[in-house]
Amino acid sequence: MEQKNPRVEAMKQFNKAAEIMHLENWIREILSYPERVVEVYIPVRMDNGEIKVFEGYRCQYNNALGPYKGGIRYSPDLDRDEVIALAQWMTFKCALVDLPFGGAKGGVKVDPTKLSLRELENLTRRYTYEIISLIGPSLDIPAPDVLTNEQIMAWIMDTYSVIKGYNEPAVVTGKPVFLGGSKGRKEATGRGVAINIREFLKIFGDSVEGKKVAIQGFGNVGSYTALFLTQMGAKVVGITDSGGGVYNENGLDIQDLIKYAYYEKNIEGKIRRTVAGYPNADSITNEELFKLDVDILVPAAMENQITEENAGYIKARYIVEGANGPTTFEADEILLSNGKIVIPDILANSGGVIVSYLEWIQDKIGYYWDEAEVNASLEKRLIRVINEVYSTSKKYLVDLRTSSYILAIERIANAYRRRGLFP
Ligand code: NAD
Repeated sequence: MEQKNPRVEAMKQFNKAAEIMHLENWIREILSYPERVVEVYIPVRMDNGEIKVFEGYRCQYNNALGPYKGGIRYSPDLDRDEVIALAQWMTFKCALVDLPFGGAKGGVKVDPTKLSLRELENLTRRYTYEIISLIGPSLDIPAPDVLTNEQIMAWIMDTYSVIKGYNEPAVVTGKPVFLGGSKGRKEATGRGVAINIREFLKIFGDSVEGKKVAIQGFGNVGSYTALFLTQMGAKVVGITDSGGGVYNENGLDIQDLIKYAYYEKNIEGKIRRTVAGYPNADSITNEELFKLDVDILVPAAMENQITEENAGYIKARYIVEGANGPTTFEADEILLSNGKIVIPDILANSGGVIVSYLEWIQDKIGYYWDEAEVNASLEKRLIRVINEVYSTSKKYLVDLRTSSYILAIERIANAYRRRGLFP
């Protein structure tokens, strides 16, 4: 089956909500396009002395509510439309959780696992240089995404600071704590996914205790989601990643699996291996994972994983999108008609950008909160938004994705109504 274009999928979600809320045509037109997409070609000196050129992007989708905000992804399959779709989702995510940020995304078409540490550093610093006029604490603030991490954020922060001539930690979030990062940021996206599950189950008169969970992806989002859900009393029985998958009907030991699936390549960055081959479990494929008899399914890997082809087989009642855009528009309609509850990406994985916002504030004021304060602030904001999303879904008689979009679009539209359009 042909891969769906994530930009087309993102537009279908947007248009569905815009229709229901009778969004003014002029605002709908503006929000249908990014403000800017910059394509850069990054020459990198490789360890063998050769120069190799990599393709990179930064898309700034919208800044009606504040500086652009969004991650940087390193992926061998990255393309322009994927970056635009991810920047559009960031725009609605930041608006939904009521942050003073717009939306952006960037990335480089590269498999970073095939680079040495020095090549990775050269690539990151030169990419930062190529987009330096676009980023800054009041302009556009990058963060980690797929296959980027704290170390890469540290290099971006250092390159920006050296070129500007002063230290500027607020130019990126997701940095190491000792360089101005926030306590709790690394865990924040997974923590937010788990809070979403706990709160929605509560709303539906249910609880996490004893629930069976399957997770696709065991990176930053998937591993912390698994950890927090087990702490809440759930049983994570199946996990897959790009190297394979594992299944244990009695529940996987997540702490142990994390130790198995990661190894330290250098002092700063944990470099990913895979859950495949973990001894205390059977092996399982992605397709089998989606068909498991579980209560909760968390796609936490990539876009377009739940499609028209596999949506009908999903047994889980709750589908909670840790990843951005894991469900195609048509698959979403199948899930809804089968009575499934889909907690959409822009809400489910918003914990990361919420704590990124807290990191940015701390860098700007030069005062750092302890982890309990950060976590309490994340939790308070998420619970407020979860309840708003639920009550909006009741008001408009729509699914949770559409009600999330309605809330997000309304916040951006309000800004446009008062700001008007230049010139
Ligand atoms: P990561 O690079 O840390 O991990 C990605 C995981 O997905 C890895 O385990 C990888 O093996 C797996 N994977 C990749 N392709 C796969 C495939 N085809 N099948 C099965 N597994 C596959 O990335 P991450 O930061 O955890 O991001 C995962 C998703 O969450 C992305 O959609 C990202 O945009 C989204 N997200 C991340 C954050 C964040 O703070 N890191 C915040 C919000 C949303």
